[in-house]
Amino acid sequence: MSYVLLIEDNPLNAEIVVILLRTINVEVRHTLRGLEGAKLARQERPDLILMDFDLPDIDGRTLALTLRKQLGDAEAPPIVALTARIGKSEEQLAKKFGCAAFVSKPIVDDEFLALIQKLLSATSQRQNVEKSKDQPGNN
Ligand code: MN
Repeated sequence: MSYVLLIEDNPLNAEIVVILLRTINVEVRHTLRGLEGAKLARQERPDLILMDFDLPDIDGRTLALTLRKQLGDAEAPPIVALTARIGKSEEQLAKKFGCAAFVSKPIVDDEFLALIQKLLSATSQRQNVEKSKDQPGNN
C-alpha cells in the first residue's frame, strides 16, 4: 500500500483529500503544520508528499526545498503542491522549488487521483529498480 504524507493547515480541505485518496487505497498521514510535516517525512519516508503552499508556520516553497534537501534530492519522493493560487507562473515557480506537480484548489477529483496514481507508480518503479540493484549478480 502506498503511503502519502499530507501537509495541510485547513482541516476541511485535508479531510476531502484524505477521503479521496482512500478511494484509491492509499494510506494517508495528515499534519496541519509544515515543520511537523518535515519531521514526519524524514522519519517515515512517504512515497509521496502532498503539501499546501500556504501554511502558517513555514512558506510552502521554503518547505518544498527543505524537504528535498533533507530527503536527499534524488531519493526524495515526489512533492505535489496543493494551493489556492492559480496560473502558469505559479506552477513554474513551484517546479523551480522542487515540486513534481502543482494542483490548484478546488481539486478536480478525477484529475487529481489520476495524477497521484501516476506519480505513485513512478515512485514504486524507481524503488523496484533500486531494490534490484542491491541484489548480488544483478547490476
Ligand atoms: Mn493553507
